Amino acid sequence: MVLFDRHNYHTFQPLLYQVSTAGLEPDSIAYPLRKVFRKNKDFHFRLAEVDHIDTQNKVIHTSVGSLPFDYLVLATGTKTNFFGNKDIERHSMAMKNIPQALNIRSLILQNIEKADSSNDPEERRRLLNFVIAGAGPTGVELAGALAEFRKGILESDYPELNENEMEVHLIEGSDRVLAPMSALASKRAQKYLENLGVVVHVNSLVSDYNGQRVTCKDGGTFDTETFIWAAGVTGAPIQGFNGDALLERFNRYRVNEFNCIEGFEHLFALGDIALMETAGYPKGHPQVAQPAIQQGRHLAKNLKRKFLGKPMTPFGYYDKGTMATIGRNKAVVDVKNRSFGGAFAWFLWMFVHLWFLVGFRNRVITFFNWTYNYINYDRAARLIIRPFKKKIG
Ligand SMILES: Cc1cc2nc3c(=O)[nH]c(=O)nc-3n(C[C@H](O)[C@H](O)[C@H](O)COP(=O)(O)OP(=O)(O)OC[C@H]3O[C@@H](n4cnc5c(N)ncnc54)[C@H](O)[C@@H]3O)c2cc1C
Repeated sequence: MVLFDRHNYHTFQPLLYQVSTAGLEPDSIAYPLRKVFRKNKDFHFRLAEVDHIDTQNKVIHTSVGSLPFDYLVLATGTKTNFFGNKDIERHSMAMKNIPQALNIRSLILQNIEKADSSNDPEERRRLLNFVIAGAGPTGVELAGALAEFRKGILESDYPELNENEMEVHLIEGSDRVLAPMSALASKRAQKYLENLGVVVHVNSLVSDYNGQRVTCKDGGTFDTETFIWAAGVTGAPIQGFNGDALLERFNRYRVNEFNCIEGFEHLFALGDIALMETAGYPKGHPQVAQPAIQQGRHLAKNLKRKFLGKPMTPFGYYDKGTMATIGRNKAVVDVKNRSFGGAFAWFLWMFVHLWFLVGFRNRVITFFNWTYNYINYDRAARLIIRPFKKKIG
């Protein structure tokens, strides 16, 4: 078996926002892929970009060469969706991987430092204005963490800056934050955010960002040097077989209940890149971790069955619930038909995220950091190691 990935590590994406806001070091949420599989015999890893698949001849072409295959599983996930807006793509900050999260961390810290030494009130305002587009779990968690940064760090470590000068704006196109969750969870989350001082703008669509000013469709504007784009993702398919297999609107491969890509007996797709229409999920499963994990386990079992000449079994998704954190002692959880929030939800959120982090060392370090940050109201990873240079023009 050969695993190709453009990174030599697995990223735990739900905690990327903590890297962006200096709560965790990147190596706490990443794990070397070779180490994950070190005990597996007949396993090979190749650090490579997969760029083309020849389905007729069953060959995969990558940046390190080509490889014929008997069976191919695609699990390429998603990429940031800028909805075709080139200005936003050029000037905003995306947060889909560790290098991007580190860029955001550097930019936030650089801008606060610049504001500290600026005497121009307009410039100071732009530097201390943090604007996030998209109030899904990523945007909400990021906004909450930035608001806590202001509360815990700005006052103590930047005596020449006034806490009230820093603003956090969260812009959402739909009529509520955390739209995929229950109405009660949305209401609670918005209240928590507002209590932390985040300004929430619902029913507001961003139309442009020129590097200094965010413009919304309703005419509203925000002057900012830090604009984070958390407003959507789209599938990251690989060239080679598009046509009917790729649903262009979503950039996801249509798969049957065995995760087999329609029309290709030897090709499978799972996780965010796969769209499986079932009675319970006519538009496909949500693009979150659980469907990807469950499909991965199920497909592995099915492939073993296939090799033994047994029939494959259909995939069934078990929804374990949804959760998001807003800040210390503040989280929201939807399980089955129940929704709850507050400190218990927050502890549950921490437990679940520690549980799913890959690697014992990562769990210990993350737990230690969270405890330290909780006691000290600190975010210890406030280091500009690789300064971020904004694109000009
Ligand atoms: C910021 C953020 C926060 C999130 N928070 C949550 C959360 O709180 N809860 C939740 O359930 N889900 C969350 N998600 C979603 C969750 O992370 C995804 O649903 C899940 O990771 C999907 O798994 P996957 O295996 O399909 O894709 P991924 O985990 O994205 O893996 C895709 C892999 O393919 C590799 N790859 C892609 N294209 C190529 C190529 N051409 N060549 C080589 N390698 C390639 C990538 O390097 C990557 O390793 C979050 C996502 C993000 C971005």
